[in-house]
Amino acid sequence: MKIAVLPGDGIGPEIVAQALLVLRRLALPLEIEQAPVGGAGYLAAGDPLPPSTLALAKAADAILFGAVGDPRFDRLERAKRPEQAILGLRKELGLFANLRPAQVHAELASASALRPEIVSGLDILIVRELTGDIYFGEPKGIRRTQTGEREGFDTMRYRESEVRRIARVAFEAARKRKRKLCSVDKANVLETSQLWREVVSAEAKNYPDLELQHMYVDNCAMQLVRNPGQFDVIVTGNLFGDILSDEASMLTGSIGMLPSASLDASGKGLFEPIHGSAPDIAGHGVANPLATILSAAMMLRYSLARPDAAARVERAVAQVLREGYRTADIYTAGAKKVGTDEMGAAVAARL
Ligand code: NAD
Repeated sequence: MKIAVLPGDGIGPEIVAQALLVLRRLALPLEIEQAPVGGAGYLAAGDPLPPSTLALAKAADAILFGAVGDPRFDRLERAKRPEQAILGLRKELGLFANLRPAQVHAELASASALRPEIVSGLDILIVRELTGDIYFGEPKGIRRTQTGEREGFDTMRYRESEVRRIARVAFEAARKRKRKLCSVDKANVLETSQLWREVVSAEAKNYPDLELQHMYVDNCAMQLVRNPGQFDVIVTGNLFGDILSDEASMLTGSIGMLPSASLDASGKGLFEPIHGSAPDIAGHGVANPLATILSAAMMLRYSLARPDAAARVERAVAQVLREGYRTADIYTAGAKKVGTDEMGAAVAARL
């Protein structure tokens, strides 16, 4: 099994190192090769997604990704900015389905921004479309209007086929869970959302055993903090999913806990924590590596067909949390405060 490891920028290399420690401890026949991406790619080859990195990602069975983004490169033209690497990988590899579980570990219920009784037992899966929407729609740009004022513009677009295939992923996922799907849009204002709603409703006819509900994105943002337990699977577009999944992350206590999978039509995927490169804490050895370790577990389950190994990693993570190990972002009084390396080593030692 070939794995392309792309650590990226900021805390990326620190947290990916811990995931690799855990993977190596499993002693599976893994062929691991690393390559620079993001700001690191720009420094190495003048390109956030160097051709050799893309080739490695294409040849691999799965990709383990850290994070990209470095404030030193914020002034570069858009095509050279670190964040273009992840957008490019999604596009080039056809990774259209982003699966983001938001589960509350019992031990961390008190770390949530909400009261423990609201979040305890929470288990939501957000299925976000990844390759369409306003992030990729053309035209986009900044232009001068007739009065000489500058104007920024982007284009929200979804084709029927794009909505149908992400709806299918979400319906299939819901079928393996509590059989409840909530499709989130802004159909009261956006034409794109009206089409989204029509297509999802039509697709629901193929899943008569499931319960489908539609919700406006503003209401969903509110319901996620009011009564998050009502949700099982949420399916939504790229922009809304980006925001709602970060909101859902705070229900769980820390953005540093949440893994994600981005899959193509055949199940090959890129696995990464949902957080970014956290430049504010990079190099301090305090980043939480659990989201990346849990991303490696998702990789074992979804792309490498090793659900047994995935479950072992997830059990090891649950165990260190039970034993009180906490990085700064999830620390509460009385727990064992540890840094990035100690947390990774603790998980590896439980395997
Ligand atoms: P961020 O997720 O990097 O950080 C948000 C906050 O959460 C920060 O306070 C950070 O310290 C904290 N945090 C994040 N991950 C953590 C971890 N593992 N442990 C402990 N604390 C953690 O988001 P941001 O600050 O908005 O963005 C920073 C950079 O990351 C930007 O350049 C942005 O474009 C990029 N970014 C990249 C990705 C990606 O690579 N997929 C995703 C989001 C943002």
